[in-house]
Amino acid sequence: MDRRTFLHWAKLAGVAIGLPGFDALGATDITKQNPTAGSRSATAAKTATPETLLLKDYRPESIYKIPVTKIAKAKFPVIDMHSHPYAKTAQQIDEWIGNMNDVGVEKTIILTMETGAEFDEIQRKYSKYPERFEMWCGFDFAGYDKPGFGPAAVKELERCHQAGARGVGEIHDKGKGLRSGKSNAVGMHPDDPRMDVLFEKCGELGMPISLHVADPIWMYQKMDRHNDGLMNAYEWRLDNQPDIVGLSGMIDIFEHTLARHRSTTFIACHFANLDYDLARLGEVLERNPNLYADISARYAETAPIPRFAAQFYAKHAERLVYGTDMGFDKPMYQTTFRILESLDEHFYEVDQFSYHWSLNGFGLSDAILKSVYHDNATALLAGRRA
Ligand SMILES: [Zn+2]
Repeated sequence: MDRRTFLHWAKLAGVAIGLPGFDALGATDITKQNPTAGSRSATAAKTATPETLLLKDYRPESIYKIPVTKIAKAKFPVIDMHSHPYAKTAQQIDEWIGNMNDVGVEKTIILTMETGAEFDEIQRKYSKYPERFEMWCGFDFAGYDKPGFGPAAVKELERCHQAGARGVGEIHDKGKGLRSGKSNAVGMHPDDPRMDVLFEKCGELGMPISLHVADPIWMYQKMDRHNDGLMNAYEWRLDNQPDIVGLSGMIDIFEHTLARHRSTTFIACHFANLDYDLARLGEVLERNPNLYADISARYAETAPIPRFAAQFYAKHAERLVYGTDMGFDKPMYQTTFRILESLDEHFYEVDQFSYHWSLNGFGLSDAILKSVYHDNATALLAGRRA
């Protein structure tokens, strides 16, 4: 889950940003200190003059009279490898299934991040559609800082597996240490020897792990006029946290982890946050055959560089899997299809991404679309690697 996911989740769950529940997600937000800041700034944005308008409130509309592609349904069946238990009621779950049918999503992987009773509850809620939803569990990091950590966490992993968990995720490490939902392991990174038993057990049980390392690069950079992602970097800034491992260091940690556990399959969430440096991600994929990358929640970050991004998709088509991470409404899915399938240029999706740079479609070939939408996920889920 990241910022965008959170905003969608908050909308669905009717949660006001700034309430204590926000903390559980481990996010840092300027509105947290001042819960009324959000609503005040919304009003200010609407009445802003060019002298007072903030970049984050900018809402440009494209002037170009150029083709606009409407894609109601994906060109090929889709497996969504990165979603969360957004639907809270049976009615919402039915609605989600309806949307999946309409847009062409065959199956959705729900990264619950939970263990124990919380996992069981989500598993029970979604059990009406075993062919359409697959539940992945979290890790229980309780006692990670005490001698003897391991056996209890492995036992809970085995129990969740028994209860229906088919993989693990989403596990985060944004530089401070591992987190699985509300379970934290401050200072313990994925390559820590204490994690060996868990990752090895995942390999043994055939459970892939969806791992979110670092965060977008501009959150680590100086918050000044040169910051290319300033419109949302400031709200989610990490540059003011000197003790965390930086993005590059987290990629190194990830690679050590992949090398330590070659018989375990990992999925790097959000292009491993290397959407700004896809060449490096390509090298990481080439060095590590047990790694896939999901493309979730980085559409707005890759759509500004459509030609380079399309080349990357072509080169690594067998290692990329489709994901969303942004709720379950139909326009959300359709926006991702437009970016992957069309050759549309210079469009904005403000409702989806807030203000971001203008977007462009990649125009991916049928063969690449089939791989990314479906076939790679099928291979991964069947425990086979290309
Ligand atoms: Zn997520």
